[in-house]
Amino acid sequence: MRLEGKIALVTGGGRGIGRAVAFAFAREGASVAVVARTAGEVERVAAGVRGECGVRAMHATCDVSDVESVARAFAVVAETFGRGADILVNNAGIAESAPVTRTDDAHWRRHLAVNLDGTFYCTRAALPAMIERGWGRIINVASIAGKTGAPYIAAYAASKHGVLGLTRSVALEVALKGVTVNAICPGYVDTDMTTHAVEQIEAKTGRTAADALDRIKSMSPQNRLVTPEEVAALALLLASEDGRGITGQAINVDGGSVLF
Ligand code: NDP
Repeated sequence: MRLEGKIALVTGGGRGIGRAVAFAFAREGASVAVVARTAGEVERVAAGVRGECGVRAMHATCDVSDVESVARAFAVVAETFGRGADILVNNAGIAESAPVTRTDDAHWRRHLAVNLDGTFYCTRAALPAMIERGWGRIINVASIAGKTGAPYIAAYAASKHGVLGLTRSVALEVALKGVTVNAICPGYVDTDMTTHAVEQIEAKTGRTAADALDRIKSMSPQNRLVTPEEVAALALLLASEDGRGITGQAINVDGGSVLF
């Protein structure tokens, strides 16, 4: 049991990668707090984790782009478990595409607000308790779009590049406090987010869904989607004692599509 006695807070834990992380951590003995905006989804994941793994699990609704909503969720987690989280997984995120000249202010702000501000708000809320205890893990689910650009995702890529800057700076700031801060950079993962990307390609280019999916898969040298469980497995390593020497890193889980 690699996370026995630890409390993990997973944002965007209601589905996709966050859900897989919640289960992976719970199977290793962690108490888990699952937060996102959709109450039914976070409730189902918390109940599933309790049922399958027999650990303590709670859910809370939270919009990570709203600083007050973040403060409320962190307060409920500390109240429920008796202290703040040892492990924070900043996984909540959104991804939409548009040519940059048709990226309106709302699209731009939405991506910065959820993907970057949200990661900052949760990090700032979680760190004091970690520093006080002299142990903590912050794991930011960024993207290979945090390392390289691509057409039609200027807002998303800008927000994820920002997450890497935040990751590296905070990692250095708390390096002597027993807290590690890292980013995971997945390629396309088999989740609703990728399903929506396929739908968008279908709608905008007239390709079939199967063709759009094949094109997405072919962006990876492994010619496949990453699974949420593969991302969760890396999160588990970073969260565990074995990962204590890894900090300030941005690690790709992308089948080799980005080699830096
Ligand atoms: P999903 O769309 O399946 O899940 C996203 C999760 O984030 C949901 O639980 C959603 O819940 C939550 N979320 C979205 N907005 C907010 C918000 N404002 N406040 C709180 N929670 C929010 O996507 P994935 O699981 O695929 O993505 C997870 C992360 O991985 C994201 O950061 C994404 O950018 C990143 N990623 C994904 C890739 C992919 O190919 N799928 C590739 C690279 C990175 P709700 O809507 O209920 O709030």
